[in-house]
Amino acid sequence: MSMYRLVYYSRNHIASDPALYENAVNDILAKSRVNNARDDITGALLFNAGCFAQVLEGPLDKVEAAFERIQQDDRHGDVSLLGIDPVDQRSFPNWAMGFVGISDADAVRFAGIGSDSGFDPSRLDGEQIHMLLRDLTMEEETAFC
Ligand code: FAD
Repeated sequence: MSMYRLVYYSRNHIASDPALYENAVNDILAKSRVNNARDDITGALLFNAGCFAQVLEGPLDKVEAAFERIQQDDRHGDVSLLGIDPVDQRSFPNWAMGFVGISDADAVRFAGIGSDSGFDPSRLDGEQIHMLLRDLTMEEETAFC
């Protein structure tokens, strides 16, 4: 079955209260992991206070259906699709939904992005976001091995 990779970014609408924020993010992750395991979707979600960026990979119909649901979610907005392309293999085979917070220092280290105005995914293309998430999740995997 052919496989697709979808990349988007969005503006984070979750309240900036740290406790609420943590609950909301945990909620999103728990739901994502159940739904994505069911739908043979893998990927990763990156966030900071201002934005989300996410990669979803799997069968086209399942990836499109997940993205439809995600776009309706009012915990974020201004959802911008950067690409949906066929791929030969998964970049996140071990992650129903990997999750990485990103500091400005990480952004500079991994993507060479200027940090003066903070990490801003709207300055990246789909492939740069994909590579950034792949490097960050790989680093997480190595840390736990
Ligand atoms: P249910 O969980 O039964 O939810 C029913 C409806 O209520 C949905 O419309 C849902 O959007 C809404 N809802 C539920 N809880 C809340 C809440 N606390 N606040 C606001 N609305 C709520 N889902 C995936 O399946 N895979 C993903 O990879 C994924 N990534 C996400 C990334 C981000 C940045 C965000 C914000 C959400 C993501 N979601 C993801 C969640 C997605 O938007 C839907 O909420 C979820 O897929 C709905 O699952 P469900 O159909 O089982 O409905």
